[in-house]
Amino acid sequence: MDRLVASFKRLPGIGEKSATRLTFFLLSAPDQIAAELADALSRLKRETVLCEGCYDLTDRSPCRLCADDQRDDSVICVVEEPGDLQAVERSGQFKGRYHVLGGALSPLDGMGPNHLRIPELERRVRSGTIREVIFATNPNAEGEATAGYIAERIRSNGVALSRIACGMPLGGDLEYADHVTVGNSIENRRKL
Ligand SMILES: [Zn+2]
Repeated sequence: MDRLVASFKRLPGIGEKSATRLTFFLLSAPDQIAAELADALSRLKRETVLCEGCYDLTDRSPCRLCADDQRDDSVICVVEEPGDLQAVERSGQFKGRYHVLGGALSPLDGMGPNHLRIPELERRVRSGTIREVIFATNPNAEGEATAGYIAERIRSNGVALSRIACGMPLGGDLEYADHVTVGNSIENRRKL
């Protein structure tokens, strides 16, 4: 039990209390629950590989999206993490290729350009088939800095560079939105 509590505590967002609660839950739950968790955990590392095309985490390389010849080779959507790729994919609005950076620039956390898959992106852009690069990094300080930094590095290749829009969420209320969000909404307005 101590070993399991210690293991849970290493996970992000899990403290002593949650770790203990999870451990007691598994102890009292039907055997199958713990067995499924153990199986999923042991297979996670063994059966997950990095896609050599987009650097997403996948069960095979090239991944399903890179292998799909119906997708547009001329547009790359750059995201920070595999979860972000899934979010863009769920929107159903993008039919091009992806590039997962593996994080965002964050000097305070020791995340420099060398920690991200920027040379790999440059290589893809230089291949000549790319017409546009869409930066879908997060709309926060790190995400903005990352998009700006990479844009400058690949600008000379003559590709169109774009940034996802940010502003009011659907169903939002202007009166209660912060001034930065309202400002972005004005700046990123669209024609009717
Ligand atoms: Zn891929």
